[in-house]
Amino acid sequence: VAKRLEKFKTTIFTQMSMLAIKHGAINLGQGFPNFDGPEFVKEAAIQAIKEGKNQYARGYGVPELNSAIAARFKKDTGLEVDPEKEVTVTSGCTEAIAATMLGLINPGDEVIIFAPFYDSYEATLSMAGAKIKSITLHPPDFAVPVNELKSAITKNTRAIMINTPHNPTGKMFSREELELIASLCIENDVLVFTDEVYDKLAFEAEHICMASLPGMYERTVTMNSIGKTFSLTGWKIGWAIAPPHLTWGFRQAHSFLTFATSTPMQWAASVALKAPDTYFEELKRDYLVKKEILVEGLKASGFIVYPSSGTYFVVVDHTPFGYENDVAFCEYLIREVGVVAIPTSVFYLDPEEGKNLVRFTFCKDEDTLRAAVKRMKERL
Ligand code: GLN
Repeated sequence: VAKRLEKFKTTIFTQMSMLAIKHGAINLGQGFPNFDGPEFVKEAAIQAIKEGKNQYARGYGVPELNSAIAARFKKDTGLEVDPEKEVTVTSGCTEAIAATMLGLINPGDEVIIFAPFYDSYEATLSMAGAKIKSITLHPPDFAVPVNELKSAITKNTRAIMINTPHNPTGKMFSREELELIASLCIENDVLVFTDEVYDKLAFEAEHICMASLPGMYERTVTMNSIGKTFSLTGWKIGWAIAPPHLTWGFRQAHSFLTFATSTPMQWAASVALKAPDTYFEELKRDYLVKKEILVEGLKASGFIVYPSSGTYFVVVDHTPFGYENDVAFCEYLIREVGVVAIPTSVFYLDPEEGKNLVRFTFCKDEDTLRAAVKRMKERL
C-alpha cells in the first residue's frame, strides 16, 4: 500500500458491520437506515432506467439535477447559484470530499479539521499531501476552542474543514462559532470546506449554512448528498456547490476520480429534491421519536449521554462500565450484550483522546431500537 495510506485500515464502519453480522448483534454502528427510501424516488429511478437514461451522464451532472440542487439551495439558504458553473454532482459526498482535497489543496498546505472527525477527511487530506492540524472538541458541548483555533492559523493555512450537524457528536455549530470561523477565514484568506449531509436532521437548533454568512460564499465549498435526507445511502449521489474559481479545481479532480456518476439515479435524485415540505417535516418527526427511544435507553443503561442536536448519532461516555478504552468496550458490547456501536478513537489524530467515547446511531426502525435498548438495560 502507498505510504500516504499506510496508517489507514479497513474503515471502522466496515469492521463493525462485519462484526455485527458475525455475532448476530444489533447494528447501531454504521450509519445506514434499516428502512427504505420513499416510493416516489424509487419509482423515479425505475422509470429513468426504463426510459433509457443509462449512458454516461454529463461529467458535472445531469442538467435537471444541477438545477434541482440549485433550487433546493436557494430555498434552504437564500443563495442564488448558477447550476451550470457552481454545482457539481458527485458519487456521494465522500467523492465530493476527495475532489475538494485533491482539487484545491497543494502538498504542504495546512488544513484545519475538528476532532472527532469523519474518517475520510484525514485520509483524503493525506492523499492530497496536506499538513493536517486537528483541533479537538471536548464534551459535554464540543464547543470550538477559540484561542486554539486562532493560534492554529498560519500563513500556510489553506482551509478549515467543518461538518455541521457533526458526525459523530451530533453537535451543531452555533451562529457565533460559524461567524468566528468566517471572520478568521476572511482575515487570513482561508477557505472553508463544509460537509452538511445531515442538514435536514437538525433537531434542537436551526441549521446554518456557512456559505450564507456575509463574505463567505466566495471562499466556501458546500457539500451535501441525498443519502441521509432520503434514506438512500447506497445510491451515492452527492454534490458540491462552490463559486466558479473553486469549482474549476474541484471539477479537475472529479473528472479523473469518477468522471460522472450514475445517470438514472441522478434523474431520480432530481425528483427527490423537489419533495414537498411535508416530506422533510415527517422525516424529522420520525427521527425524533427514534432518538427519544435510544437516548432514554442509553441513560437508563448507565451511560453518560452527551446531548445531540442533529444527525442520527449520539455519543456517550462508557467509562461507568470500567473498560480500558472505547475499542475494549465495543468488543464487550458486541460479544456480551449483542449490540454494535462505533469506537470513536479512530476519529482523532491521537486515539487516546477518543478512548472514553462511543457512538450509537438511531437510524433504525423503532422495534430494532427497542430491542437494542432492552439488551443494554438487561445485560450491561
Ligand atoms: N457516514 C456513515 C457513518 O458515519 C458511514 C459511511 C461509511 O461506511 N463509510 O456511519
